[in-house]
Amino acid sequence: MADKASSSCATGEVEEVYGAESGWVEARNSCGHLQSLSSDLHHIPSPDSPCTRCQHSAENWLCLSCKDVLCSRFINKHMLDHHQKTGHCLVLSFSDLSVWCFACEAYLNVQKIQPLQPVYEVVHLLKFGERPPFLPINSSE
Ligand SMILES: [Zn+2]
Ligand SMILES: [Zn+2]
Ligand SMILES: [Zn+2]
Repeated sequence: MADKASSSCATGEVEEVYGAESGWVEARNSCGHLQSLSSDLHHIPSPDSPCTRCQHSAENWLCLSCKDVLCSRFINKHMLDHHQKTGHCLVLSFSDLSVWCFACEAYLNVQKIQPLQPVYEVVHLLKFGERPPFLPINSSE
């Protein structure tokens, strides 16, 4: 097993990640809310699941704390509402598989935050039928 470099002292470390549509977006390489991740993220709803409240069918988000599927702030804001009511802050987009933290108010860099990788891998597999091409993790960059 490869030893994983643990850089837990990263505070507000930000790296630029190339976003598919919107150009350069900032994604954080650390997040202090990973303890709220569900303990079972291997069994998650299908990426084409509708919003559990309004049945909106596309571009929904998955709550990584309770695995609820809810629509985006551009539709009926059910995920935002869920966050405000429950405090669940880590969500994954079924449309582009990006991970957003409401508490950090930032996208998270899945390539650099290992606890997010298993669920990312599962969603990627469900959506595209193959595992994601993870970059090799290196701490010297
Ligand atoms: Zn966070
Ligand atoms: Zn909805
Ligand atoms: Zn939740």
